[in-house]
Amino acid sequence: MSSIPIARPSIGEEEIRAVEAVLRSGMLVQGEAVARFEDEFSAYIGSGAGVAVSNGTVALDLALKGLSLEPGSEVITPAFTFIATANVALYQGLRPRFADVDPRTFNIDPEDLAERITPRTKAVIGVHLYGQPFDLDAVSEICEDRGLHLIEDCAQAHGAELNGKKVGSYATGCFSFYPTKNMTTGEGGMITTDDPELGIRLRLLRNHGDLGKYNHVVLGYNYRMTNIQGALGLVQLKRLEKFIRQREKNAQALDQGLKVEGITTPYKAPGARHVYNQYVVRVEEEFPFGREELMARLQKAGIATAVHYPKPVYEQPLYRELGLDRGVSCPVAEEVSARVMSLPVYPDLGSDDLSRIIQTMNEMEA
Ligand SMILES: *Cc1c(COP(=O)(O)O)cnc(C)c1O
Repeated sequence: MSSIPIARPSIGEEEIRAVEAVLRSGMLVQGEAVARFEDEFSAYIGSGAGVAVSNGTVALDLALKGLSLEPGSEVITPAFTFIATANVALYQGLRPRFADVDPRTFNIDPEDLAERITPRTKAVIGVHLYGQPFDLDAVSEICEDRGLHLIEDCAQAHGAELNGKKVGSYATGCFSFYPTKNMTTGEGGMITTDDPELGIRLRLLRNHGDLGKYNHVVLGYNYRMTNIQGALGLVQLKRLEKFIRQREKNAQALDQGLKVEGITTPYKAPGARHVYNQYVVRVEEEFPFGREELMARLQKAGIATAVHYPKPVYEQPLYRELGLDRGVSCPVAEEVSARVMSLPVYPDLGSDDLSRIIQTMNEMEA
């Protein structure tokens, strides 16, 4: 019986041929394939323009940099996310601050966010965690009222929608194409924006501030994407809707199949299209034993699981050491980080794999 991994990218012959064609062309870096990928991806999202970069962290970094905030300004992110969301504030001498999350969606809690705004707060980075949109209506309204910039961390949410509109088209969207995400280019990232001026600035920052012919007008970076990644992205984008439908189907099978006391299956917010980058259950108090024991037993049965994420960002050793946001408390983030467990949900998961996961879970006893 083979083991079921927690995630696996779906790479076919077409991806292999596309990469081979780039290699044979000799045009390896940022060129036609990247430009086409930017156009097709931003059109899919419903955003005016796409700026392709080398990874998702860099997408967030540039999107924040593009705001030209004064050093020391505060940027609020949810306390419960991948560390990159908050780290990009540190990269630029800004202060990450943390808001608590909703216990059902695991996404930023708008009421708590509003309470954490200070006169120094200049931006909010919301995260569509696990592929479920955060409350964009409420968060956008707060940002508008208080004059804050909004960035969407869409690293896990390609194709996710709220009320029929795709995430990444509400504000500045930042995507990742890391192999565990819903589509991959190996490493890779994209920023989506409707603001043409921001688009120009991001392109300059991406390429050493070069206006062309070694005319460097601002301090930029090398954050470019290769044509190898661009060609992979074009093929994966064509397959994305199919990947998402397969993830939705797998999630539905798990929702319906899992019947264990003390396991709470994912909640879907009204109006949301959840694209299930992760299928995350809560292991509740009533479950006969602890999460770590459950994970160990599943591992023994050949089923990989993971915890996304085991502690709030402010409890990470780096943040503790920096003494940042000392005394902050996000009780829901602390509670859910102790309860969540991700099960495999990737598109190529077979129905026999799904049955095995469901049966193994349902037969768990103290
Ligand atoms: C993956 C991820 C990132 C970073 O993307 P990379 O491409 O790995 O740099 C940022 N935020 C979230 C929520 C992510 O899941």
